[in-house]
Amino acid sequence: MGKAKVIDDPAIAILYTREPSGIRGSHVKAVVFPEEEKDVSLILKTAYKYNVPIYPQGSSTSLSGNSVPLEPGIVVSMERMNRVLEINIVDNYVVVEPGVRMEDLNAELAKYRYMFPVDPASSSVATIGGAINNGAGGLRGAKYGTMRDWLLAVRLGIADEEGSILNLGCYTVKCRSGYDLARLIVGSEGTLGIVTRAVLRITPLPEDTVYALSFFDSLEDLMEAFIEIRRSRLNPFMLEFMDSATVDYASKSLDLPYEPKGNLFLVGIETSPESNQRILDTLTSLLESHGAHTIITAHGDKEAHDKKLFAVRKNLFTGQARYTLEKEGSSGRIMVMIEDIVVPPSKVPEAVTLIRGLGEKYGFTVFIGGHIGDGNLHPAVGFNAEDEEERKRVEQWFHEVMEIALKLGGSISAEHGIGLLKKQGLRMELEYKNSLKALQLMKEIKKAFDPKGLLNPGKVL
Ligand SMILES: Cc1cc2nc3c(=O)[nH]c(=O)nc-3n(C[C@H](O)[C@H](O)[C@H](O)COP(=O)(O)OP(=O)(O)OC[C@H]3O[C@@H](n4cnc5c(N)ncnc54)[C@H](O)[C@@H]3O)c2cc1C
Repeated sequence: MGKAKVIDDPAIAILYTREPSGIRGSHVKAVVFPEEEKDVSLILKTAYKYNVPIYPQGSSTSLSGNSVPLEPGIVVSMERMNRVLEINIVDNYVVVEPGVRMEDLNAELAKYRYMFPVDPASSSVATIGGAINNGAGGLRGAKYGTMRDWLLAVRLGIADEEGSILNLGCYTVKCRSGYDLARLIVGSEGTLGIVTRAVLRITPLPEDTVYALSFFDSLEDLMEAFIEIRRSRLNPFMLEFMDSATVDYASKSLDLPYEPKGNLFLVGIETSPESNQRILDTLTSLLESHGAHTIITAHGDKEAHDKKLFAVRKNLFTGQARYTLEKEGSSGRIMVMIEDIVVPPSKVPEAVTLIRGLGEKYGFTVFIGGHIGDGNLHPAVGFNAEDEEERKRVEQWFHEVMEIALKLGGSISAEHGIGLLKKQGLRMELEYKNSLKALQLMKEIKKAFDPKGLLNPGKVL
């Protein structure tokens, strides 16, 4: 590939063994930076020949240990394959390389008044390849779902003698070419192949939007407002929540034009200029009637950004990390174990109550927030990973949160993936659903794509 595409200095390579949660991998032999598809093919072919484990990586912002290397091998960073190759408005798709960052894609699409609607809170750095492989969702999930709803096709490099590149899926919404292997890649976490190109559906930007950021003293009142909005015909695309402890820490470093006090509820609704005011009035009176003590509204995305309506919510993880640093100091090795369960939206209030009770049982400060519009909750606990006893207790708590999700008809993972943290959880979910045999099927699928087990070994299964 040439020296310019390889880093083998251990002091730099080690930076590619980490992720924001504090999970760390082992040392890597090298980090390689493919710039075109034929580089990826060469990497896969060579890895196959010499039996070298390879770890595909976007920006490594996953929170379940998804892309950290476990065995001495090669990290394949996709950051230089970052071109938007085609924007096709008539056929409603884009063709992109995997290293394109999600916010950058939306900046391009905005020129045509279009958008790619999956927007993780990490979208300023998260890559398309990472989002596909994590099955990512985001703040617009209440209406627009996750990556699996928006992926049409991928080009996938697999680890075989030739480093073959396969075209999976179609450029059209309707597509029946046997088993749906393109969507099998969604959420496969780099264990089946390397995505070298993706074809994604796009959609027009809404004509207009309205937002309301509100704060509630009572969590129960907030949850009632949430259920009433779900029951109404307002059809919001954004329904985000943070409890008051999370709000306190997430807003500490922010200079805000409002006072962030209490439990946070953020609602976004697509409108038209004609319906704007009517919908905003309905929303505001609904929030007031449920006890919101502060309501800040905005017409359109620009006003919402200018008024910093998203700032606290986007700082959710930073707030949790800040608290942990304050609590543990910087001498230990801090970790933030962030859960990613999903329940039917109607069960969110019950899930929040049970998770808070669990925090009391363990004596932890548990931060809770999430994309409640699609039932996705992110309870989190920060701790010192060098304290073995504390670590075990946190793991037990983590396990019990997953049990709550299953009992309420949900799933152990919504968007962050299985990675390292949830392998046991995946097994528990399949057992719970009386479908443990599915694990064997997954192992067979892995073997069919990657017979030597070289792609992101040790993850998911
Ligand atoms: C502050 C913060 C907020 C977040 N908010 C959200 C959120 O709202 N919603 C959400 O879904 N997630 C969220 N995340 C998790 C994460 O950012 C997203 O899932 C994101 O899409 C991952 O992108 P990445 O480029 O960092 O992928 P990485 O972490 O680098 O990789 C993710 C997985 O994909 C594999 N992979 C990467 N590129 C390729 C490729 N080209 N081919 C094959 N496999 C590949 C990796 O091996 C790994 O298993 C958040 C994370 C943080 C730190």
